[in-house]
Amino acid sequence: MSLSCFDLGERMLSVDEALEAILGFAAASSPAHETLPLAALRGRVLSEDITSPVNVPQNTNAAMDGIALAWPVGQQSQRQVQEQGQKHAPLALPECWALVGESLAGHGYRDEVPEHAAVSITTGAPMPPGTDTVIMSEQLEEAPPEAGRERVRVTRPETVKVGQHVRQAGEDVPLGAVALTAGTRLAAEHLGLLASLGVDRARVSRQVKVAIFSTGDEVTAPGEPLPMDGIFDANRFSLHGLLTALGVEVIDLGILADSSQGMVSALRDAAAAADMVITSGGVSVGQADWIKPALAETGELGFWRIAMRPGRPLAFGRLGSERVPFFGLPGNPVAVMVTFLQFVQPLIRRLQGEHAWQPLRLMARAEESLKSRSGRVDFLRGVYHADESGQLWVRSTGRQGSGILSSMVAANCLIEIAAPCAGIEAGETVTLQPFMHRG
Ligand code: AMP
Ligand code: MG
Repeated sequence: MSLSCFDLGERMLSVDEALEAILGFAAASSPAHETLPLAALRGRVLSEDITSPVNVPQNTNAAMDGIALAWPVGQQSQRQVQEQGQKHAPLALPECWALVGESLAGHGYRDEVPEHAAVSITTGAPMPPGTDTVIMSEQLEEAPPEAGRERVRVTRPETVKVGQHVRQAGEDVPLGAVALTAGTRLAAEHLGLLASLGVDRARVSRQVKVAIFSTGDEVTAPGEPLPMDGIFDANRFSLHGLLTALGVEVIDLGILADSSQGMVSALRDAAAAADMVITSGGVSVGQADWIKPALAETGELGFWRIAMRPGRPLAFGRLGSERVPFFGLPGNPVAVMVTFLQFVQPLIRRLQGEHAWQPLRLMARAEESLKSRSGRVDFLRGVYHADESGQLWVRSTGRQGSGILSSMVAANCLIEIAAPCAGIEAGETVTLQPFMHRG
């Protein structure tokens, strides 16, 4: 990895340049893996492709309760005849069918079904040998028995199509197919799919451990009395929530005072214990003067000015001999969340093995004019909704100060106004990133 944060110098970085440099760090580190049982896999990222060892479903089976029969040889349904434009009256599907047995889910009928005979069948039961078509029970009536055999009558037999209401073996996942690919974050449906293959464990990337702490003499832990000049520590808890939503193991190192003392050892210990270290506060111009030497002693650090709002400045680099990625996020609570979502989240997902991840971006029309400045990306807190026609609309939550955390609570998305754009008029189209971290 050739990038030095300092190589990027003092110039203003674009959001894309910053993200590219950050993601470059992940390339250097290969995540460790572990094998876990199915029930422990939710939220984890697969580190192997899963190839199906079976056909799902295993057997060709009925999709409805009813009867299974073999379509009579040479017989066409009326519909087929019509489709083929034949003038002759079709041979009707026989109305009455003798039942020679039953195929139940879990108890299939194994014998060949004779021509013009049927087997009663339940949903999911294997199609008996020779049968290819299911007629649902709603379309059947009892008919008088013949030769000691139960019989059913098909109402409107002309509506029956060859092969109807049958699920083919392997139609969901065929034997040998790649069912899930490495890099997939496993949700409920993936666990269900793995189980349907009979797979009871999988190799996933090891849980990423992230150490967090807040900085600032004024920053006070909730639950403590608030000093005259104090402010409660919001950032450690919003970070904790964002990290746990990504399935990260959080190491909470509390609050550090505004002094280099203790900083070096705190950073060293954090780097030794975690795969990533995140702090908030203490990186603004002036304050960076005391944090800089501490960070320089423990690693390679750059202070970046990124052309975005909120969110600059940001410190980024590597710590300790382990060269653990480090983010020094701004202190303002909204800036913390925005920079986390834009820069920290993509790196964590990379480290977890989710290589193809991109934030979901939707296009919406602005309900009102939106302020922005050309030359930087503005991330406004927004509320979007769909109107009756399905068109998305978005408005700002109001005051956009980077200390107004209630704007994040009121929002359901970030409105992303690209750098060249000097503002959005009402009715214009704008990009938004829906909040995905809310569980
Ligand atoms: P700083 O970057 O340290 O100058 O902090 C910028 C602003 O964010 C200041 O108003 C700080 O009081 C505030 N701030 C810093 N850390 C926290 C925190 N953990 N929780 C809430 N506000 C904070
Ligand atoms: Mg501070």
